[in-house]
Amino acid sequence: MLVVKKFGGTSVANKERIYNVANRCIEDYKKGNDVVVVLSAMGKYTDELIDKAKDINPNPPKREMDMLYTIGEQMSVALMAMAMNHLGVPAVSLNAFQVSMHTTSVYGNARLKRIDSERIRNELEQRKIVIVTGFQGVDKFDNYTTLGRGGSDTTAVALAAALNADSCEIFTDVDGVFTADPRKVPAAKKLDVISYDEMLELATLGAGVLHNRSVELAKKYGVHLVVRSSLNTAEGTIVKEVGSMEKMLVSGVAADKDTTRISLIGLKDEPGVAFRLFNHLARHNINVDMILQSVGRDSTKDITFTTTEDNAQEAVEIVERHFHEYEKIDVEKDVVKVSIVGAGMQSNPGVAAKMFECLYDEGINIKMISTSEIRVSVLIGEKYAEKAMNAIHEKFSLGDN
Ligand code: ADP
Ligand code: ASP
Ligand code: MG
Repeated sequence: MLVVKKFGGTSVANKERIYNVANRCIEDYKKGNDVVVVLSAMGKYTDELIDKAKDINPNPPKREMDMLYTIGEQMSVALMAMAMNHLGVPAVSLNAFQVSMHTTSVYGNARLKRIDSERIRNELEQRKIVIVTGFQGVDKFDNYTTLGRGGSDTTAVALAAALNADSCEIFTDVDGVFTADPRKVPAAKKLDVISYDEMLELATLGAGVLHNRSVELAKKYGVHLVVRSSLNTAEGTIVKEVGSMEKMLVSGVAADKDTTRISLIGLKDEPGVAFRLFNHLARHNINVDMILQSVGRDSTKDITFTTTEDNAQEAVEIVERHFHEYEKIDVEKDVVKVSIVGAGMQSNPGVAAKMFECLYDEGINIKMISTSEIRVSVLIGEKYAEKAMNAIHEKFSLGDN
């Protein structure tokens, strides 16, 4: 068997944890398996690198940020290889350059295009444990890139697909995927199984337990994906294609605080306004999430949209510089997007109404709403995030079915 095992930052945060991971991997290796390990930077090292960078330059060039980020993962893999060697097992660490993980050139948010598997296969043939840096890649000009925060999960799944691995295990600091973030919702329950589609929505909507691209890739290539704890041997959560019989009405609730609301008030109520506005934003690579347009009144209308906090300031600058068709602009940062996800929603009316009733009972005002076939999202005041998540969790009795 060939297994890919990925360990996140907390799982390799210190010497003891590094040896814990080394031993777990060696156990697999001694069963005769080929073992490929993907690691994140130790503990909060990536955050520390950001602080260091911003201390030097509050607005660091994205290319140099990626250059800096790569040392975090590189430190982890080298130390892990040393630990395994100390335990008497041959191991080799490889960074994105040495493997050749080819990505697009979008610094900080690159996409994996192709992984050369030859070097890894050669090392495995020599019965070595191969330890690969997560999160990083190399573009066609040989610049380092990174895949976005939390991107090591995506490295692991992509490697599993490229190597045709029998499984991809994501080891983290919780026992698996829960009905909500267990640190925010004490009543959250671990799910034994979740569908790729639901997991993709949850990951995209703020459930940071998996990087959303990793789920997309797992679905695309049918990777057998498991999320489990690095600190115990409990069975984790299997992410897979789920049959319709097993579909839950609502399987989880997630919150995303990295969102800002921008409203343009007093636009002309005529064709082309939305096109011009969003075209300016698209040309500057600003990803817009929720969009709301009011009905026209007295030949004017308003358009509201949300974007990430990082993009918000740039979005406002672009609007002010290029789009002069509004009377007033209003920006609100203290908002959170709370979402429920469930494949069973498709065929069951009333799910959205139940969520809105729950928020009404809690006295929480809804600022924006958006839905898809398997999701309902609301934008509310950030201070209500945890109250809303807990109330919704209880209202839908999540984890009890
Ligand atoms: P790692 O460093 O191992 O990649 P992350 O911090 O990226 O770990 O992801 C694990 C964290 O994700 C958990 O500690 C938990 O707080 C958070 N999380 C958010 N939503 C969920 C969820 N639905 N199920 C499990 N964990 C969640
Ligand atoms: N170290 C990177 C981060 O903190 C990548 C990862 O952990 O997956 O975002
Ligand atoms: Mg993570």
